[in-house]
Amino acid sequence: MTNKIQPTISDAEWEIMRVVWTNHTVTSKEITEIVKEKMNWKQATIKTLIGRLVEKGILKTEAIGNKYLYSPVISEEESFKSKTTNFFDQMCNRKVGTTLAELIREATLSHADVQMLEELIQQKKEEAVDSVPCDCIPGQCDCQHSHS
Ligand SMILES: [Zn+2]
Repeated sequence: MTNKIQPTISDAEWEIMRVVWTNHTVTSKEITEIVKEKMNWKQATIKTLIGRLVEKGILKTEAIGNKYLYSPVISEEESFKSKTTNFFDQMCNRKVGTTLAELIREATLSHADVQMLEELIQQKKEEAVDSVPCDCIPGQCDCQHSHS
């Protein structure tokens, strides 16, 4: 993978980022009002999470008068992409297909989603290989055993 290294967003920080991605520019008060009930967090916890996101360069802050406005540095799409890339990097390449199938099986999809997937599958059919290469180290997957 040649994509630039992105700071990871923890599950807790993700809750904060969803508010910022949805509302674009928010004050810490607005973030607190939105996530407080859902997560049952204290204001101090939310402040800590916001501070951590600023430190990591995921959130930027701007002082307007006596209040701070927060906005995202990294888009939601970019974050989804790096999250799923990390997830698939943690498994043998040969398990990606069945994992994707499992994800699709569990998902509720619209007709438009199914249409999009169908088109993608058609395209993938043309690019399919006989056997997906495994680049795991011995002892982290079973591929080596099946060759001997
Ligand atoms: Zn493997």
